[in-house]
Amino acid sequence: MQIEILKKSYAEVHFIVRGVSPRFMNSLRRAMMADVPVMAVDDVYIVENTSVMYDEVLAHRLGLIPLKTDLDYYVLPEECGCGSETGCHKCSAVLVLNVEGRENGVTVVYSKDLKPHEANPEVKPVNEKIPIVKLAPGQRIKLEAYARLGKAIKHAKWSPVVRCTYKYYPVILIVDSKCTGCGLCIDVCHKNVFTLKSGKAYVVNQLECDLCDECVDRCAQNALNVDFDKNSLIFFLETTGSLPAWKVLSEACRILKLKSEAFLKQLNELGVV
Ligand SMILES: [Zn+2]
Repeated sequence: MQIEILKKSYAEVHFIVRGVSPRFMNSLRRAMMADVPVMAVDDVYIVENTSVMYDEVLAHRLGLIPLKTDLDYYVLPEECGCGSETGCHKCSAVLVLNVEGRENGVTVVYSKDLKPHEANPEVKPVNEKIPIVKLAPGQRIKLEAYARLGKAIKHAKWSPVVRCTYKYYPVILIVDSKCTGCGLCIDVCHKNVFTLKSGKAYVVNQLECDLCDECVDRCAQNALNVDFDKNSLIFFLETTGSLPAWKVLSEACRILKLKSEAFLKQLNELGVV
C-alpha cells in the first residue's frame, strides 16, 4: 500500500492510496462516517422560551451545531460507570444559552451565544456564526444544554464528517497521431482536464477527471481513452471541525482493527480458524 498526500489542513485531508481494494477503503469510509464519536447536544433543559420556535425544534437545532471534541478525555455515556442521568464530567459537558431580544429590531441568536460552562471550557461550537433563532424585542431564551459523545450510526448529529468520499484514479490516454486539435474535449470537460498545446489536446488536470466519458463521446477521431486504475483511489475527507481530519482517520483505523480482532476471536472460539 502506498499513500500520497495531496492536501492536508486541520479539517481536510485528500490523498491517493495505491494497492488497495475499494472494499477496504469503503469499510474505512463507513467507520469514519458512522463509528467515530463526537460531541453533540443530547439533552436540553429549557428554563424559559418565549420565542416563536417550539422547544423541540430549538433543541433539535442545538443538536446539529458541531462542537469541539476531545476524545482523549471524554467517554461514551454507555461506557461511563457514573450511572447518572445527566452524566458526570467524563461523559457530559454543559453549555448555557441565555439571550433576550434587544429593545429595537430583531435579535439573531448565534452559536456563539451557546456558552460552555466554566467546568468544560473546551467544549464549544466549532463555528460562532451559525444562526439558531430570531428574537423579537423582549422575547427570551434561557436553557442548559448537555452535550455527550455519540456515534452517527445512532443519529446523524454525531457524524464527524461532511465529506467522506473516494473515486478511482483516472488514467487518460491521448493518441497524438489521431488528435486534430479540434478542442471539443476542452469545451465539454467541466473539470478543465485538458488544454491545447502546439495544436494538440494535452492533459493538465488528470486528478480532477471524474470519469464521465463525455470527452470520449465527443471526440470524432477516437483519439481519447479514459480509464481508471481499479487498485488506486483518491480519497477526500473533510470534517465538521469537531475533530481534526487526521484524528477521524486514525480513530476509524483503530475501530476497524478492534472490530476485526473481535471477529477473529469469535471465529477462533468456534474453531473455524
Ligand atoms: Zn459519567
